[in-house]
Amino acid sequence: MGSTSLKIAEIRSQFFMELEKVCYAKDVEALKIRYLGKKSPLRGLMQELKECKEEERPQFGKMINDLKEEIFHHLDHVLQRLLFSEENSKVSQEKIDITLPGRKRFLGHMHPVTLMLKKATDILIHMGFSVQLGPDVDSDYYNFEALNFPFDHPAREMQDTFYLNTETLLRTHTSNVQVRTMEKYKPPIRVIAPGRCFRNETISSRSHILFHQLEGFYIDKEVSFADLFATMEEFWSRLFEKKVKTRFRPSYFPFVEPGLEVDVHCTSCNGGGCKLCKYSGWLEVCGAGMIHPEVLQAGGIDPEIYSGYAWGMGIERQIMLLYGIDDIRKFTENDIRLLSQFY
Ligand SMILES: [Zn+2]
Repeated sequence: MGSTSLKIAEIRSQFFMELEKVCYAKDVEALKIRYLGKKSPLRGLMQELKECKEEERPQFGKMINDLKEEIFHHLDHVLQRLLFSEENSKVSQEKIDITLPGRKRFLGHMHPVTLMLKKATDILIHMGFSVQLGPDVDSDYYNFEALNFPFDHPAREMQDTFYLNTETLLRTHTSNVQVRTMEKYKPPIRVIAPGRCFRNETISSRSHILFHQLEGFYIDKEVSFADLFATMEEFWSRLFEKKVKTRFRPSYFPFVEPGLEVDVHCTSCNGGGCKLCKYSGWLEVCGAGMIHPEVLQAGGIDPEIYSGYAWGMGIERQIMLLYGIDDIRKFTENDIRLLSQFY
């Protein structure tokens, strides 16, 4: 009996000696394992209890348990004190450098195509046009036939089309909106149609199977070339944010008669000649013309009473012209280095 209580006293004094030396919270953890863990001397004593006299066992058991509790209590107390002081010294050592620049947040951008469509649409809405959207998948009738492309018309060969079946195709231009709109509304009609177009082209720096157009047309009594010229000059000046000179050259599209190409004075050199305009002084910006009487008729509008003009621009082409981008494929590559420059 005497030897057991002596051992308990020894363990106790040994523990307090070690506890006094502890400087860090992590050492408290180590001490806890040593004195209260599976291999602790107190555990060993518990084993020895089995060899004690039966009447002495409760007393020793209590002594061992009391010591365990005492150790646990002291360890916890010291641990809390050390954690608190460690936290305090950490905080006092930390310095905040208020001169450091803040972290930049990444903000999403609109795609340049979306931006250009939005800009052109906003301008034209202010000029009195309303927006009509057409389907990406359309019939041969609205995409070709109603627009004066007969089945054997050579212009159809010019446009390599994605046919879904003999009657259905992916629209090759936003002009499929024209006849649909004429069927729905009576003149005066002043409409723009922005959207996606598809052509079965070999993808290169200059052409792509997917691109965007914005089409506009105006139908009323006595609409003339003068209206088209004035609208073009006003629209392109607003889009380029400065007064631009326009030039009109005869051209051919099946759905207009006569047809035109619209050029504007190069916005980079003001007509002097530069790399952007290939030293011609002019930028080719869109196709236009007076709506063909056959097209008006297909839309149920009498060409003897009404006339109209139409124009169509390629959105990617405008962005390439404005920003000197030399490859149309860049619009679908989603390279963040290019896209983040537009906002
Ligand atoms: Zn130029």
